[in-house]
Amino acid sequence: MNRTKSEQIYQEACEHIVGGVNSPSRGYKAVGGGAPTVMERAEGAYFWDVDGNKYIDYLGAYGPIITGHAHPHIAEAITKAATTGVLYGTPTRHEVKFAKMLKEAIPSMDKVRFVNSGTEAVMTTIRVARAFTGRTKVMKFAGCYHGHSDLVLVAAGSGPATLGTPDSAGVPASIAQEVITIPFNDPEAYKEAMEKWGDELACVLVEPIVGNFGIVEPNEGFLPLVHELAKEKGALIIYDEVITAFRFHYGSAQTLLGTTPDLIAFGKIIGGGLPIGAYGGKKEIMETVAPLGPAYQAGTMAGNPASMLSGIACLEVLQQPGIYEEMDRLGGMLEEGILRLAEKHGITLTINRLGGALTLFFTDVTVENYEQAEQTDGEIFARFFKLMLENGVNLAPSKYEAWFLTIAHKEEDIVHTLEAVDRSFKALAQ
Ligand code: PMP
Repeated sequence: MNRTKSEQIYQEACEHIVGGVNSPSRGYKAVGGGAPTVMERAEGAYFWDVDGNKYIDYLGAYGPIITGHAHPHIAEAITKAATTGVLYGTPTRHEVKFAKMLKEAIPSMDKVRFVNSGTEAVMTTIRVARAFTGRTKVMKFAGCYHGHSDLVLVAAGSGPATLGTPDSAGVPASIAQEVITIPFNDPEAYKEAMEKWGDELACVLVEPIVGNFGIVEPNEGFLPLVHELAKEKGALIIYDEVITAFRFHYGSAQTLLGTTPDLIAFGKIIGGGLPIGAYGGKKEIMETVAPLGPAYQAGTMAGNPASMLSGIACLEVLQQPGIYEEMDRLGGMLEEGILRLAEKHGITLTINRLGGALTLFFTDVTVENYEQAEQTDGEIFARFFKLMLENGVNLAPSKYEAWFLTIAHKEEDIVHTLEAVDRSFKALAQ
């Protein structure tokens, strides 16, 4: 595969853009280095790079592109925004329509506010929880990513009873000391941490279905316990649904799980590919936010007509009957096919899948928490990633990231992908 132009553009990018990329996860450092593929065009389930190579895409832009690239209905909405003004700085009818659509999909949510990214959404839910409870401490789960604000770039201490340490230079230790990070799916660690910190907690921040160390579902009974003890201690529950909302079915993960959080943070899918975030929750909590209440949050770009129209169009596409069932069917085909090929070539592999999202872990360990996800063999993944690219399949360059199916993927794409996996596993096994 000729990648000359990708390499040239990346070299030039490195002279002008820090690290050559605008988000660290786009670089190929985690997969042994080299120039990341520079894409030129995307349509449906496919990418074409600057050298003219074609790929089946499972990156889905890290989640948002659930309709497939350049979906005509979303393209039409964005064109409308481009010709009627992309940014007003005034209220618009689109914001109201979109807020109503989100509330209809997620009935537990009384009020919503639009922001510009998942980072902003999560950051603000924490502020709101602190304002509402008058407390400062935050509990979260190891390996979950909640954006790049100071409060959530915090690593675990040495155990459930220990406060956190900064996970990035520039995050003050004093801020990390406000955060307790414990293992996911570990009732005992949660009980211990709640016993110690529960009375000081403003909130428990949780990805209800984890998307950031692979797809990991909560074990039976874990989320109900999280809710029960948080309620007992007066801490709010925030669901970070930046990945999960509208991913597995039309609406929030809470419908699948039968639990109701106090606040929800959104991003990714709800923008139809344009920048967006949102947060919402119960009326009495949301009314803590300015201009009604004392918790400040604002944004020049928030609720802009382009993101609103694109988001509305995306949800309209997702209302079509049968599409989640089809992503689940194709996801199942991929999972079953990849496992069969792993057996054929003697590759050790565990797959976690929910609907059209799946993660390959190169380990025989069952993955229910971050420590187990870390068992996946990064070197094998790095080789697999590059082999798949050579074979025309674009994955995220991270051993933890999910493959995201879209409604544009067809059975023939799955067949081609499995042929690529067959060739890649064969090369790995040699
Ligand atoms: N929360 C979760 C669960 C995420 O996966 C991400 C992004 N990967 C974020 C928050 C941050 O969203 P953004 O990149 O839009 O700031």
